[in-house]
Amino acid sequence: MSEENKIKSGFVSIVGRPNVGKSTLLNALLGEKIAIISDKPQTTRNRILGIVNPPGAQIVFMDTPGIHKPMHKMNEFMVNTALRTYNEVDVILLLVEATEPPGAGDRFIIETLAKVKTPVFLLINKTDLVKKEALLPLIQTYSTLYSFAEIIPLSALKKDLGGLIEAILKRLPQGPQYFPDDQLTDQPERFIVSELVREKIFELTKEEIPYSTAVVIEEMKEEPGITRIHAAIYVERDSQKGILIGKGGAMLKKIGTLARLDAEKLLGTKIFLKLYVKVMKGWREDDRVLKNIGIITEGE
Ligand code: GDP
Ligand code: MG
Repeated sequence: MSEENKIKSGFVSIVGRPNVGKSTLLNALLGEKIAIISDKPQTTRNRILGIVNPPGAQIVFMDTPGIHKPMHKMNEFMVNTALRTYNEVDVILLLVEATEPPGAGDRFIIETLAKVKTPVFLLINKTDLVKKEALLPLIQTYSTLYSFAEIIPLSALKKDLGGLIEAILKRLPQGPQYFPDDQLTDQPERFIVSELVREKIFELTKEEIPYSTAVVIEEMKEEPGITRIHAAIYVERDSQKGILIGKGGAMLKKIGTLARLDAEKLLGTKIFLKLYVKVMKGWREDDRVLKNIGIITEGE
């Protein structure tokens, strides 16, 4: 690459406990619905790359799974993935909420940052919910916990990003353009579709179901004018299968229809979506399933 072609480019990781607004922030940065938003925690189980191209620069954002203390095997993988990411990026964005003082979840993440050399920005999100006066004491409290490179109050929901992009650009090295201009995400379409199905399950079923659910796209065929997708929803118990299918298949049909409509909008193509429910006891501890849904990547 010649000198004059050089731009500023780099990778930025977004971390924060569940529900602080990571996906909302990513969507605000991208201006498109790529990261899936839910008001239930931990919707984002995989890393999503979002790409923003300000003039003369390219920022690649990574939405890491909600990092918290490992509880079982799946969460351990998520935490390890997040920790490894820290050293591979140029800036780390730690999202916290303006509405409350640092909690156990925030403090745990800050502890994991202890030996990290990458600059960490503290983003105090949801400022639309608090009075301005509440911010200063919060900033002071957080400053005693960590030496943040920047502290930026913002509201991801209101798309009021408080100069975040400009602050990131200051920290990026000169580098290549990693992705073409028109590419918003490197996630394959199948991932977007499986996340949409999971989002509908979150919206339509009770608490217990989503956490024991994995969606695996088993077949995806692009034909002229239509994409045919077969997706399996894995659950852990027969009772959960019953709930997901619903009376006369009504629940599954509703999940499928809503996911299909969103997917068609997002991917700009007609979609035929067929859903199955499969019972697989202990899938959360099963490496093959975890690999299939992208929690473990090859070589780990
Ligand atoms: P994640 O789990 O960290 O990815 O959080 P989400 O992006 O899914 O957001 C969790 C909830 O917080 C959703 O209901 C969002 O609408 C809400 N939220 C996110 N950012 C803001 C904000 O700036 N202001 C307000 N009022 N709500 C927000
Ligand atoms: Mg999220």
